[in-house]
Amino acid sequence: MGEEQQQLGWAFETLAIHAGQEPDAASGAVVPPISLSTTFAQSEVGVHKGYEYSRSGNPTRTAMETQIAALEAARHGLAFASGLAAEDNVMRLLQQGQRVLLGNDAYGGTFRLISKVWSPLGFPWTAVDLSDLDRLVANWPDDTGLVWLESPTNPLLTCFDIEAICEIAHARGAMVVVDNTFATPYLQQPITLGADITLHSATKYLGGHSDVVGGFLAVDDDEIADRLRFTQNAAGAVPSPFDCYLVLRGAKTLGVRMDRHCENARAIVDLLVSHPTVERVLYPQLPDHPGHAAAAKQMRDYGGMVSFTVKGGEAAARRIAAATELFTLAESLGAVESLIEHPGAMTHASAAGSPLEVPDNLVRLSVGIEHAGDLVADLAQALEP
Ligand SMILES: *Cc1c(COP(=O)(O)O)cnc(C)c1O
Repeated sequence: MGEEQQQLGWAFETLAIHAGQEPDAASGAVVPPISLSTTFAQSEVGVHKGYEYSRSGNPTRTAMETQIAALEAARHGLAFASGLAAEDNVMRLLQQGQRVLLGNDAYGGTFRLISKVWSPLGFPWTAVDLSDLDRLVANWPDDTGLVWLESPTNPLLTCFDIEAICEIAHARGAMVVVDNTFATPYLQQPITLGADITLHSATKYLGGHSDVVGGFLAVDDDEIADRLRFTQNAAGAVPSPFDCYLVLRGAKTLGVRMDRHCENARAIVDLLVSHPTVERVLYPQLPDHPGHAAAAKQMRDYGGMVSFTVKGGEAAARRIAAATELFTLAESLGAVESLIEHPGAMTHASAAGSPLEVPDNLVRLSVGIEHAGDLVADLAQALEP
C-alpha cells in the first residue's frame, strides 16, 4: 500500500503500522515475511511477479520503502545499506564540476564523504552559513548543483528555514537534500517544505533500537527517483532483507517513541539550563537557540537530542561524558537507550581543523525513553565536579 492509502488520508501513526504492510497474499501473515530469497521464479522469460533478483528489488525491502516513504509524505522511497551509502547515491546525481553547498554544521561522515571522496573526483564544495539567507543569495556560486542541509544539525542542533532555502536553491537551478535523521518524519517532513530529497540514517530513530545500520532516501519527483533507483541497483549498496525488517519494525513505534524522546529531552534541558557547571544549552525549543523560529514553524516538537557546552573546557567535557552510569558513553543516537558523547573526539573528529570543527567543551546527549527522573538524576550526579 502506498499512494492509494495516502490518498485515504491516514495519519502518521496509522501509516507507520499499515503502509506497505497488508497481510501477505500467500499465507495471510500479518507481519511482512523476511524474504531471504536472492532470486525469483519467472513463468516465461521476463514474466514475473515484480521481483527478479534481490539487489534490484526485494519484497521485505519494498514493504519498508513503502512505509517510510509514506511517513515522509513522499511518493518514492529507496533503502540503502547505511546513511552514508544513501548519501553517496545522492552525490551520483551531480555532474562533475557541480558544487555542493554544505551547511557549516553537519554530520562528520557527510563532511568526510564530500570533502575526501567526492571533492578529489571533481565535485567542489563550499561550507556556508544557511542561517544568513541574504549572504547566501549574495555569495551564491553559479556552479551550485546541490544544497546539503541538516535541520536540526549534528551536533549543534541549529535549525534552518527549509522552505526558504528550497525557494532560493530552486530559483537558481539547484536541488536540495535535507538530512532528516535528527527530526524524523514524525517531527518534520522536508518534502512538504519543498525539499527534493529527504535523507536518513535509518540507523538512528527510524530503526530506533541500536541494532541495524541503514540509510533511506524519500523523493517525490519521478525523474529524480528513477535516477536514484538506477544507481541503487547499479552501484548496489542495498540493505539485507533482515535489516529492512528491523527498520520496518522499529518505525512502527516512531511516533510514540518520539513523543517520549521529546518529553525526556525537556526534563534534561530543565536540569541543564540552571546548572552552574553548564555554559550553554543547545536545544531548538529554547527561545534564544539559533533557528528556534524556523524550528517552531516547521517542526511538530523539538526532538530528543540535547547538546551543551561546559565550564572547564575539554577536560570537563570528557570527565562528564565518562561519569554517567545510565547514559552510555558511545557514538550514534536515536535509540531507546540514552547515550552521551564528546563530539570533538568522537563523531566529529573528522571535522577537526575544518570550517565544520565543533567546540571541544561540547557534550552531546541522545536522550532515550527511560524514566525521565532516572535520566535527570544520572546526569545531575555526573555534572558534580
Ligand atoms: C549517523 C548519521 C549519518 C550517517 O549514517 P550511517 O547510517 O552511520 O551511515 C548521516 N547523517 C546524520 C545526521 C547522522 O547522524
